[in-house]
Amino acid sequence: MIPANVIERLRCADHVVVLTGAGVSAESGVATFRDPDGLWAKFRPEELASMTGFLANPERVRDWYAHRLHVVDSVEPNAGHHALAALERLVPSFTLVTQNVDRLHQRAGSMNVLEVHGNLVENRCNDCGWIDDAHQAELQCKTCFGPMRPNVVWFGEDLPHDVWVQAEEATRRADVMFSIGTSAQVYPAAGLPYLAKDHGAFVIEVNPDSTELTPYAHAHLRGPSGVILPELISELTAA
Ligand code: NAD
Ligand code: ZN
Repeated sequence: MIPANVIERLRCADHVVVLTGAGVSAESGVATFRDPDGLWAKFRPEELASMTGFLANPERVRDWYAHRLHVVDSVEPNAGHHALAALERLVPSFTLVTQNVDRLHQRAGSMNVLEVHGNLVENRCNDCGWIDDAHQAELQCKTCFGPMRPNVVWFGEDLPHDVWVQAEEATRRADVMFSIGTSAQVYPAAGLPYLAKDHGAFVIEVNPDSTELTPYAHAHLRGPSGVILPELISELTAA
C-alpha cells in the first residue's frame, strides 16, 4: 500500500527526478556493491576501479569490466525499471539520474537518463577522452594511441562535468525526488536528495533497508523496487 500523500504529490508534480543505484538492478540479477554478497565483498575496489589499479594491471581491470558487461548483457530489465519508464510517460517532466552503469534503464524504455557514473558499454581514451561505443575493448585510442579504459567513474575521479551539471539543475527544479536502491553513501550523487529537499521537493526513498537518507525523507517505501514501483504506478493510474 502506497501512502496517499505520495500519490497526491506525484499527481500534482510538474517535475519528477529519480536517483537510482545498484539496488534497482538487484532483481535483474546484477550484484550490488555494498551488500554482504556484493561485488566489493569479493574484490578489492582499489585494484579494479581506480587509475592506480588500471596502470598496475590493465588486463585484469579490462577483464573484470568485460565480465561485468557480459553479465549485464545477459540479464533483462526488471519490473522496477519498467515502472520508471512508465512513470516518465505519466508526468509532465522527468529526469532519471542513475549511478548504474548497466544500461538497464535505457533498455526498459527510459528516455531522459543521466549516467553520472558512466556506463559499461563505452570505452574512453585515458589521454584524449575519445569515446568508443563499439561495445568491445580496443586497447589503444584510434586518434592518439593512448590507453583505452572503461567509460566509468573510478574512485578519486570527477563525475562527467556536463552530466553532473544537468543532474543538479534538474534536482533543483524537482517537485518530487526519489532515491531508489541506493545506499546513499557515494557522494556527490548521494547529495542530490538533500539538494532537492532544500529546494522544496517531497523526497521519497524506496529501499528494503534504512540508509543515512531515511530520517530526512518525507516517505520511506520499504521493499524491493521491483515490487514497490509497479504498485505505485498502478495506484497512480487508478481512477
Ligand atoms: P550500493 O551497493 O551501495 O547499495 C545498494 C542499495 O540497494 C542498498 O541500500 C540496498 O539496501 C538496496 N537494495 C538492495 N536490493 C534492492 C531492491 N531489490 N530494491 C531496492 N533497493 C535494493 O549501490 P549504490 O548506492 O548504487 O552505490 C554503488 C556504486 O556502485 C554506484 O556508484 C554504481 O555506479 C556502482 N554499481 C553499479 C551497478 C549497476 O550498474 N547495476 C552494480 C553495482 C555497483
Ligand atoms: Zn586518445
